[in-house]
Amino acid sequence: MHTFAYARPTTLAEAVALLDAHGPDARLLAGGTDLIIRLRDGTVAPALVVDLKRIAELHPAIREADGQVTISAGTVMTDIAADPLVARHFPALAEAAAVVGSVQIRNRATLAGNICNASPAADTAPSLLVYAAHVVAEGPTGTRRIPVDGFFVSSGVTTLARGELVRAIELPIPARRQAAAHLRRTRRRGHDLASVTLCCGVDETGATRLAYGSVGPRPVLVVDDSGVLADPGAPDDAKAAVFERMFAGASPSPRSMRASPAYRLAMLRVLGQRALATAIDRLAARA
Ligand SMILES: Cc1cc2nc3c(=O)[nH]c(=O)nc-3n(C[C@H](O)[C@H](O)[C@H](O)COP(=O)(O)OP(=O)(O)OC[C@H]3O[C@@H](n4cnc5c(N)ncnc54)[C@H](O)[C@@H]3O)c2cc1C
Repeated sequence: MHTFAYARPTTLAEAVALLDAHGPDARLLAGGTDLIIRLRDGTVAPALVVDLKRIAELHPAIREADGQVTISAGTVMTDIAADPLVARHFPALAEAAAVVGSVQIRNRATLAGNICNASPAADTAPSLLVYAAHVVAEGPTGTRRIPVDGFFVSSGVTTLARGELVRAIELPIPARRQAAAHLRRTRRRGHDLASVTLCCGVDETGATRLAYGSVGPRPVLVVDDSGVLADPGAPDDAKAAVFERMFAGASPSPRSMRASPAYRLAMLRVLGQRALATAIDRLAARA
């Protein structure tokens, strides 16, 4: 492994100052389930690794206040999957957290690390998009709230600016009755990223939010307010037309070793229909 300096700040201000001073030569370490692999295989070679685990403001916490649930950057998948607040308000996020990697990975992997790594296959991204989450970024000029749909750029690239780190993820508690479901397709559970990862949400007005990943350079969110997909009386061809429009943002890479574009696009449709059906059933159960 390439040699690097190691810093373990205890305050956010210290971490931000280090990041600002070193720019792209510094890398943050949370659970390390992505970073350590990349340090080992040499695809990243930072001069400095900044360990976030001693920073009190980032310590694991899931709290409800002012109509939203805030998940601190140090919170791991195991805790998100088991949390009662997440289960009550954002069950599709709990479902996504529960399928990340294996037990050992979920005990280390943070939600913030999952989105900051910005893999198109990040399993938590679709549910965060469906639930209209915000990323709370802390940087040299203060705090910034970024809608999660404005956070992902492409594989490994986010809209975080120099010196910024993620402090927390905020999820607004839905004002309307709604329900969602997360589904994914993977080759080998626990060892591989998704070939398709997807979340579908519907609310009491029939509005449908569909988000999907691993079928293009970044996760995609599409919203349909027509109510057609959630209407049991709508003709099949009308539903198919809405679905096709929603899937238009998928552009799987032909160079991936995981699955062919044709397979991913076929699975996207299958999972999309299944997740929609589950979300509609769950919405009815919440009446
Ligand atoms: C065997 C295995 C299986 C896996 N399976 C899955 C899977 O099924 N689904 C899936 O989505 N992922 C999977 N992963 C990927 C990984 O576990 C997740 O992306 C994880 O959530 C990353 O979180 P972390 O805390 O380990 O991040 P780290 O590895 O510590 O960091 C990841 C990246 O995010 C940056 N970062 C971390 N925290 C912050 C912060 N607060 N602010 C700004 N930048 C930050 C780091 O600098 C680094 O670039 C798997 C990984 C392995 C090794």
